[in-house]
Amino acid sequence: MTVFTHDVVIVGAGLAGMRAAIEASRQGADVAIVSKLHPVRSHSVAAQGGINAVINPEDTIKDHEFDTVKGSDYLGDQDRIEVLIAEAPMNIYELEHMGAAFSMVGEGEALAQRHFEGRLGTIDQRPFGGQNFPRTCFIQDRTGQALLHTMYENLLRQGVMVYEEYYTTRLVVKDGVVGGVVALDQRTGELHLFRAKAVLLATGGYGRVFSVTSNAMDVTGDGMAMAFREGVPLEDMEFVQFHPTGLYPTGILVTEGARGEGAYIVNGKGERFMSRYAAGKMELAPRDVVARAIQTEIEEGRGVKGRPYVDLDLRHLGCAKIQERLPQIRELGINFAAVDCLTQPLPIRPTAHYSMGGVPTDVNGASTLKGLFAAGECSCISVHGANRLGGNSLLETVVFGRRAGMAAAAFVKGTALPEVPAGVLETEKKRIGALLDARGPESVPRIREELQTVMFDKVGIYRTEGPMKEALAKARELKKRYKDIHLSGGSLVFNTELIEALELQSLLEVAEVIALCAINRTESRGSHFRRDFPKRDDQNWLKHTLARRKGDDIVLDYKPVAITKYPPQERKY
Ligand SMILES: Cc1cc2nc3c(=O)[nH]c(=O)nc-3n(C[C@H](O)[C@H](O)[C@H](O)COP(=O)(O)OP(=O)(O)OC[C@H]3O[C@@H](n4cnc5c(N)ncnc54)[C@H](O)[C@@H]3O)c2cc1C
Repeated sequence: MTVFTHDVVIVGAGLAGMRAAIEASRQGADVAIVSKLHPVRSHSVAAQGGINAVINPEDTIKDHEFDTVKGSDYLGDQDRIEVLIAEAPMNIYELEHMGAAFSMVGEGEALAQRHFEGRLGTIDQRPFGGQNFPRTCFIQDRTGQALLHTMYENLLRQGVMVYEEYYTTRLVVKDGVVGGVVALDQRTGELHLFRAKAVLLATGGYGRVFSVTSNAMDVTGDGMAMAFREGVPLEDMEFVQFHPTGLYPTGILVTEGARGEGAYIVNGKGERFMSRYAAGKMELAPRDVVARAIQTEIEEGRGVKGRPYVDLDLRHLGCAKIQERLPQIRELGINFAAVDCLTQPLPIRPTAHYSMGGVPTDVNGASTLKGLFAAGECSCISVHGANRLGGNSLLETVVFGRRAGMAAAAFVKGTALPEVPAGVLETEKKRIGALLDARGPESVPRIREELQTVMFDKVGIYRTEGPMKEALAKARELKKRYKDIHLSGGSLVFNTELIEALELQSLLEVAEVIALCAINRTESRGSHFRRDFPKRDDQNWLKHTLARRKGDDIVLDYKPVAITKYPPQERKY
């Protein structure tokens, strides 16, 4: 057992964590990252389609703001959205200067005939869902990979200390102040205390709560669960984004960029059915609208070949365009669905994709707990409200990662190292030791699978009170059964069974909050669609949900939505 001390400890090395670390370090703070994965394996690497910003002179900040507010179904806090959009262009150019090789206007043979209007050699942009202008910057369909590697190179250059493959098991809090974290070195199985004046959570989302998801295996809501256990509220957890185009059957993502480039969605009868759901925007309506349309077609028996999927047809885009702009999509189709999208449509259905909710923070990433900051998908600054626009999440990681890093560095100046509770490491060692010795009848994979299935089936795209209550009861029952799990013990070196057991604790914690908040919100808004309450109800529900743990109970509270320029209107596409 070792005690490490730094000014700022950042948990998570995705885009948000690394961007925050670079900024805090630039401001002179002693920063360390603690991450359960090597940084470039973080889920940000899987982002495909792109990142939004107003960089074309014909586009306007106001349009990007309005698209985001409308996309959020008016639940996004408009003062925060203004910051996101205003700082977007600067962040794109900064990424470019850091070394990100964005796809450029005029690049590639297939584009040679396009009319460039003097923009040759500037960053190219593609259309994305729910937006009135093509403002999504991209690097083919591997945007996340390129950005994450660029960020890692800059992190190394900045000399930030990274504790790779350290799994954080808890926050250390005394008298309402965060003083660090406890983390397990997966290479040795040893637990260490990290003392810090500020802790910044950048642990990503919780997609693995659901059986069909585009998210990597490690996206298990650890940071949200850790904060929640310490009495920090979680905001707007009922809003889970289902991405319309997950590859059937795995749920692996097919980027919205495919539709941005012109792909059609077609049902078993050969109809481009989006004309019935969003005649104006068709395939490029926002994700919640398209996901519900696909789910309805499937549920009403218009899936392809009577199966639970519809087709995403790219064939008319032609070989050159697909190879230049969507090469990874072609590879994924061949490898995971045995379909070559040059000659056949891809089978797709909605897949759990993104967590709109999370740890509430101010515009500089500060949470309600002193010394605790959060950024990226685990946070809820509330720029996405009830539904996130594609391309706004990568943007959030860099804009608010930078801000949170700066704020954490300012916070630690002149702050003394907080006290930590006596014996915290020993207590945690006992808790983990008891898990390692668990020899009950229950299996971790089985509990996880039962949880994921019930959450996808009953707290998914379409929701009603009865099934959701069943899901909540099931989540609670599984939590009880978890007390009797079985681990096989063995070596502590890379004991992945232990890590999975710890991750399951997070999934169970987060799932209960999602189900409870979803039952509680008796309206439909953005991604949260209630068959028993199909209308948006601004009178009663134009407010954020806050869920807080009190002993065994979860208490719900609310806070108002910040509305600056755009009063709520009917949302039509
Ligand atoms: C397939 C896919 C495609 C996407 N495409 C796009 C896109 O084109 N455009 C867009 O805007 N958004 C996209 N998104 C969303 C976007 O990529 C994510 O929201 C964003 O990258 C999240 O970044 P992050 O830094 O918050 O978290 P992540 O990148 O998920 O990183 C989380 C980090 O936390 C660490 N961590 C977690 N728990 C612990 C723990 N207990 N202890 C220690 N470390 C821990 C992990 O090791 C990891 O380093 C996509 C998402 C997916 C899944």
